[in-house]
Amino acid sequence: MSEPGVASGRAGGDDSPARSSSSPDRVVSALADADDRVVEGALRPKRLSEVIGQNRVREQLSLVLEGALRRGRAPDHVLLSGPPGLGKTTLAMIISAELGAPLRITSGPAIERAGDLAAILSTLSEGEVVFIDEIHRLARPAEEMLYLAMEDFRVDVVIGKGPGATAIPLDIAPFTLVGATTRAGLLPAALRDRFGFTAHLDFYEPEELGIIVRRSAGLLGVALPEDGADEIAGRSRGTPRIANRLLRRVRDFAEVRGDGVVTRDCARAALELYEVDESGLDRLDLAVLGALVRRFGGGPVGLSTLAVAVGEEAETVEVVAEPFLVRAGLMARTPRGRVATPAAWQHLGLPVPRQAAWAGRAGRVVEWAGQEDSGGDGEATLFG
Ligand code: ADP
Repeated sequence: MSEPGVASGRAGGDDSPARSSSSPDRVVSALADADDRVVEGALRPKRLSEVIGQNRVREQLSLVLEGALRRGRAPDHVLLSGPPGLGKTTLAMIISAELGAPLRITSGPAIERAGDLAAILSTLSEGEVVFIDEIHRLARPAEEMLYLAMEDFRVDVVIGKGPGATAIPLDIAPFTLVGATTRAGLLPAALRDRFGFTAHLDFYEPEELGIIVRRSAGLLGVALPEDGADEIAGRSRGTPRIANRLLRRVRDFAEVRGDGVVTRDCARAALELYEVDESGLDRLDLAVLGALVRRFGGGPVGLSTLAVAVGEEAETVEVVAEPFLVRAGLMARTPRGRVATPAAWQHLGLPVPRQAAWAGRAGRVVEWAGQEDSGGDGEATLFG
């Protein structure tokens, strides 16, 4: 039987700060854990036509791929940005499937030296798709090598060191780079500009998530009536990865405590046990919101101060909790720091104070785009 704490056991060897040892296992974390990685292979849509939601991106991408296929040439390089768990890796795999081309998968942190990248690029066959996840974390020398590779299909391999070093140009096969990032704002313009097609993935609507969990239930052999699917979809914070994970946790509950059918009541009871509230907020979200409202009077407060207040790393709060709190209209990012909206007090069952940060003192509200960080980091104001 699964237990709440075991729900998202994390994989080792991942250096993402958002999955640091201080980060609690969260059933609503959008980051993939070992458990997810095993199941996700089976649940990923394999072709563009199977992708649910992201209609505009899907249509644009289908034109890019179709055009390339007709011309018999590799399509433009593709940059996919957006919060974790929305389908960037899935789309990279689909691009390779639609093109009928092999796929190489790597990530920014895995490429430590330019030589690592050269080793990949110099062994490509024509038309191959290279997927670099978390491309904003690529080391600088590798990034510079990538510029030339993307533009001229060439890499300069440097032999030797110091004044005697020589660069030997090496032609590489035309390929398509698919870059994925959760922080598009951190990408240097020089890199961003080299992508011919850029798409931002947005959170999914509950109806779309309902279709996704029903499809997953079909693939996993879970009995999931409509109302059970709606209940899970509504608590999945707009993220397919979370929807699929909640489905698995609720299935455990239904099998152990019930007759295996994931009804609405069963989904509610299970998600209550896993401390996922009706809006999809969990303990960390509520801790962040609670600190913002109770300790900092609604802000503005800097990200790092807020993170310390909840005993988390700043990046965990920023990447894991914040995007959804902003999207849910509970928190806003302003140039002076994070502020709570009136809905935050309401969500916590507290009376909304008449004078608070959003009422003018916080200044211009910065829309969350999942990447730009001008959020007043380091500001330790208690009441602005
Ligand atoms: P990312 O790379 O953005 O973190 P993934 O591509 O790994 O996200 O997606 C996580 C999981 O969510 C996938 O395994 C897949 O099962 C599911 N998923 C993502 N997008 C969709 C979609 N549009 N339709 C159906 N399932 C999806």
